[in-house]
Amino acid sequence: MNSQVSLIGKKNVILTNDREDGVVKKFESPIISGWRKNWIHFKLKTTLFFIAFSLFKNPLDWFKSLVFLIQLRKSFFGPFRLKKMIRVDKKYYLSLYTPGWNDNIFKRFIGSELLNFKSNDVNPYRYNHVQLAITNKCPLQCEHCYASEFLNKRDKLTESDFKIIIERLQDLGVCQIHFTGGEPMLKISLMESLMKEAKEETNFWLNTSGFGLTNEAAKKLKSSGLTGIFISLDHFEESSHNAFRNYKDAYYWAIKGARNALKNDLVVAFSLCLRNDFVSNNNLKGYMNLAKNIGVHYVQFIESKPVGNYKDKQTALSPDNIELLESLYEAYNFSNNYLDYPVITYHEYYQRRVGCFLGGKKGMYIDQYGNINACSFCHNAIGNILDEDYKESLQALSQTGCPVN
Ligand code: SF4
Repeated sequence: MNSQVSLIGKKNVILTNDREDGVVKKFESPIISGWRKNWIHFKLKTTLFFIAFSLFKNPLDWFKSLVFLIQLRKSFFGPFRLKKMIRVDKKYYLSLYTPGWNDNIFKRFIGSELLNFKSNDVNPYRYNHVQLAITNKCPLQCEHCYASEFLNKRDKLTESDFKIIIERLQDLGVCQIHFTGGEPMLKISLMESLMKEAKEETNFWLNTSGFGLTNEAAKKLKSSGLTGIFISLDHFEESSHNAFRNYKDAYYWAIKGARNALKNDLVVAFSLCLRNDFVSNNNLKGYMNLAKNIGVHYVQFIESKPVGNYKDKQTALSPDNIELLESLYEAYNFSNNYLDYPVITYHEYYQRRVGCFLGGKKGMYIDQYGNINACSFCHNAIGNILDEDYKESLQALSQTGCPVN
């Protein structure tokens, strides 16, 4: 499928030549900006008012709580104004880690954020997102693999274990559950079954290399309740990505998988592991051009860490590279020059400003043994989610917080 984006009138329009049926199709870009974004954003903000009104009796609290939300946003994004939103399957996304407007999950999520201002009667989301490893198996051998200590070891947890875990996570209030691994696409039937049985209170996401993500697989995942997919893609050149992932079809599956996910109305993000030997103006622009041409909605920047295969390695990005990345992040997201490009999510950009919000505070990582860890990079297991005293372990984790920062 080749696609190109052109501006027709004031709407971004994608012209798609799908090789499978040879038909040129025209459809509106899911990346919205300008007056269309302003209109949806205005309606979304009206929803925020109504949520605040329903939570607090005192009118002063309505304004204080909304000011609190505005300040929270500013602490992450600085003075920049929102330029783009993503529309997928009749929902509108402000960011990758915010549920789509306007369903009950979105409303509960906003209520939970307001809870930080003042307690209310809403049943809140305690965690923004939890990464849940459903297998240790993986056909790839990535240069950086953060899960190398578990890679291809025997899986321990069973389907009924995972059902208990998801029930517990939902009872605790988890807004997003991200299936991860290993390669979770090796367990597609398990994911389908878990999503079908879960209460409709949580968005499910998948972190994958794209391996085996055929159109049929994407269709099954979507119909089981999947919201979106992160696909690892570490270079815009096929040979470089395959070499980094030590797998000859890694690029093929990343691109094919992204196209199949898009066809099936899933939110799609490319996830890029940032290394000093990759970061340059030309490489980042080449990467963003590829992401735009494929039509993915988001690009996630994650700086490489000294864990897994990179343990004991010097992975920190140079100050010049960080400066370049932060300036490109701001230009692509908040200037008028890249309105038809995917939105960039850059975790370390936010962390440098507001600190780490995982580590049992807003999120955590549960490995394939059920161990509770600060995040998928920091494997400092504190207790097990299947133990009776798991709530005490969660309490201990949130007190310890991020073991690195
Ligand atoms: S990083 Fe992910 S895809 Fe790569 S080898 Fe490790 S588990 Fe597999």
